[in-house]
Amino acid sequence: MIVVLTGAPGAGKGTQADLLAAKEGFRKVSTGDALRKHVRMKSPIGLQAEAVMARGELVSDEILFEILREELGPDSGERILLDGYPRNVAQAKTLDSLKETHPVVAAIHLDVDAGELVNRLSGRRVCGNCGATYHVTLTPSKTAGVCDKCGGLLQQRADDREDSVRTRLSVYESTTKPVLEYYRGKGLYQRVDGLGSTEEVFGKLKGSLSGVKFR
Ligand SMILES: [Zn+2]
Repeated sequence: MIVVLTGAPGAGKGTQADLLAAKEGFRKVSTGDALRKHVRMKSPIGLQAEAVMARGELVSDEILFEILREELGPDSGERILLDGYPRNVAQAKTLDSLKETHPVVAAIHLDVDAGELVNRLSGRRVCGNCGATYHVTLTPSKTAGVCDKCGGLLQQRADDREDSVRTRLSVYESTTKPVLEYYRGKGLYQRVDGLGSTEEVFGKLKGSLSGVKFR
């Protein structure tokens, strides 16, 4: 049984997915992680994917689905939290071809408004030396611009500059919206308000999942 978890960059999806795995018994399946694993293992499909990426192209839906299917494994009645898939309606339909063994029972959208996402992402600073992350207002370092852990200089990733963030968010929205509509049409869509502390949002997610019929 699959719960699809979607959320824009900065919505806190990764943190919440890890919490659901640790505390609610979900197995987290991330297509991004699975793809990297296959490339590392040099499995046949991993080698195919690597060749595509080496040409600077995106891994095809077919390859991604093959990797996903392998990662899902046989049906064992487990609760799977799917992260990073489906990214378009074609992928959502392909996923439905596994409904005998792996039906999608809910699609949860961790929703945070764009202004808040821009604030979260554009305020992020990363230590150039040790990789520790801070936020200029939410989790600031003791001395502005200097890492608490190693004294390294804090930097803003090019990806986190406000104009880049706005571009990333609009790309995310235009590709994800049809997927959410697809699940809404099947009665599987649930919106969870992503504003609040990690614990508060986790509470809301659990509340939302408590209404899901796992068979
Ligand atoms: Zn550091």
